[in-house]
Amino acid sequence: MEAKLKELKTYLVEVDDLHSAAALLYWDQSTYMPSGGAAARARQTATLSRLAHEKFTAPALGRLLDILQPYEEQLPYDSDDASLIRVTRREYERAIKVPPAFMQKLYSHASESYQVWTEARPANDFTMVKPYLEETLTMSRQLAEFFPGYEHIADPLIDFSDYGMKASDVRRIFSELRTRLVPIVDAITVQSPADDSCLHQTFSEEQQLKFGIETIKCLGYDFERGRQDKTHHPFMTKFSLGDVRITTRSKEDDLSDALFSTMHEAGHGMYEQGIRMEFDGTPLANGTSSGVHESQSRLWENVVGRSRRFWSCFYPKLQAEFTNQLGTVSLETFYRAINKVEKSLIRTDADEVTYNLHVLLRFDLELDLLEGTLTVADLPESWRERFQTDFGIVPPDDRDGVLQDVHWYSGPIGGAFQGYTLGNILGAQFFESALDSHPEILSEIETGEFGTLHGWLRENIYQHGSKFTASELVQRVTGSSLRIEPYISYLRQKYGELYELPPEESLMKEVD
Ligand code: ZN
Repeated sequence: MEAKLKELKTYLVEVDDLHSAAALLYWDQSTYMPSGGAAARARQTATLSRLAHEKFTAPALGRLLDILQPYEEQLPYDSDDASLIRVTRREYERAIKVPPAFMQKLYSHASESYQVWTEARPANDFTMVKPYLEETLTMSRQLAEFFPGYEHIADPLIDFSDYGMKASDVRRIFSELRTRLVPIVDAITVQSPADDSCLHQTFSEEQQLKFGIETIKCLGYDFERGRQDKTHHPFMTKFSLGDVRITTRSKEDDLSDALFSTMHEAGHGMYEQGIRMEFDGTPLANGTSSGVHESQSRLWENVVGRSRRFWSCFYPKLQAEFTNQLGTVSLETFYRAINKVEKSLIRTDADEVTYNLHVLLRFDLELDLLEGTLTVADLPESWRERFQTDFGIVPPDDRDGVLQDVHWYSGPIGGAFQGYTLGNILGAQFFESALDSHPEILSEIETGEFGTLHGWLRENIYQHGSKFTASELVQRVTGSSLRIEPYISYLRQKYGELYELPPEESLMKEVD
């Protein structure tokens, strides 16, 4: 059995080599590649991805997993070997259900659709992408049909990114969140907005990047096993557990853009850098779900990076870097500026309070499209109506409405958005557990010390990679399933200091 297990690992490492090579090509394309390389690069990436898929779905791997099944059954569930066999089988069985020809068609359709979207958005022309989006919807439904027995047609699609979550689970969580979030948003946004003009002066790119790098080194991002480069849309990528890279961008007239996106991507990067080296090259060497991954980026970006404690230590350093711009701006003014709450059009620019409303809107529209209760033709109008209901404003055009996010134009419809909000909820829940074990984390943040928090996250979350599912992990780490309470109380406590917030009346009524 040990020989067979070794054979499995060798096999999986070769699959991973192909994926990593494709990831490196993509990283290069997004950072340094001259535009003349685009056509050949698309082909090269597609070739490597196809080879990886063929190798991973080969019957030889299925036979190896069958041989190893009795061995897995003898081992404890949480042993590394049993977990490797279990997680590989789960991914193998999912991968073989979809015919390679279909995947090929889906990829090539997605890349055409993406090309058209890059022109349709600046042109504010939904009709350009409409036929592509209709085809995407048809293909998304077909993709779901390869996994019969679902409760909701979106379930198999959600499963790809947040394994084990069903549309009904997400709906229940989101509906509870909505009930408790909307009164907070409404109460804050009727008050006069914070003045964030201090963030909108001229800040040199070089200084911004330097400050960002110094900051994430303090948080614990390891530059011996990673690096940061510039791109248009920041992302994290990994070629091995020893090479986990992040990307960033800066705007000279907006200090917060690079700063918080750098901390966000560093959060994703530290998660992957913290996975146990023994898992390298196997399916265990990844974050376990999009929700848990986002919980780590958002914990560092928001819960730590936008906290008063953090800036009581880091603001003097920022002032020293930008003496002309911030020398006379108080910590309080800066703190209020980086936590300004307003109902705005663009999801990626939204503050942490209103952000989730953007996600809930997209999630509900996705389900309507997949259920067939909403047509692609009616999507822009539904977007406007829902935006009016939730934000009290109507997007002036489709560019900043239904065309703003790349997701539906570059991949299947369904499963792409819920992870962002699940991440906000889980980030607060994990942070609460970390504080239960180590209350000193708060005073350490105030002195620029992150070792206890980082160590706790590594011990409880990072090291496991995808050994446990998201729900198993949350249960193990926090002693309960996903709860929105820690997130709501985090928001109420933080924003209750900055704005007048009414008590939660609806909850008080439910007491009797
Ligand atoms: Zn993220």
